[in-house]
Amino acid sequence: MSEHFLLLSCCAPCSCAVISKLAADGANFSVVFYNPNIRPLAEYERRRDENARVCKEYGVPFIELEYDNERWCDLTQGLEDLPERDCRCSICFHMRLKRVMEYAKANGISAVASVLGVSRYKNLAQVNEAAAKASSETGVSYLEIEGRKGGMQELRTSLIKELQLYNQDYCGCKPRQ
Ligand code: SF4
Repeated sequence: MSEHFLLLSCCAPCSCAVISKLAADGANFSVVFYNPNIRPLAEYERRRDENARVCKEYGVPFIELEYDNERWCDLTQGLEDLPERDCRCSICFHMRLKRVMEYAKANGISAVASVLGVSRYKNLAQVNEAAAKASSETGVSYLEIEGRKGGMQELRTSLIKELQLYNQDYCGCKPRQ
């Protein structure tokens, strides 16, 4: 069996196609939900529960880390009014990826992947840059996983429908403008 890795997931809609494909390919992975950027708490819990439901559907372990929204707010203080894709998002990506890499390292896991760049609203290069930084700081590898091309968007759309997933209309920290 291939080496175990962690998949950082932000929500069910962004991760369903990737989880489904990895599970079908027999990949050895667990999903980690570390998203202290999501507000309010009720929204966080709703997305967490939907993500856990998708994992259960495919028999994939689901790990929830702490909801430290206070720390997220401290790190992004003063950047609240910037648009999505600006530097607040770089800080947010880096915080989440680094925490999951630290968790991986503490548990003897050498690689982390994510679905943070799957949404068409995201700048994939910005996610990969934050991941490279976190990787060099922790010594944990970052695996780039295809979530957009090769039929993945179509699979995502069909799974959202088939599993009747809750599909939110904003990223996490504030409603889209
Ligand atoms: S828009 Fe999304 S990625 Fe950007 S800072 Fe807010 S929660 Fe994080």
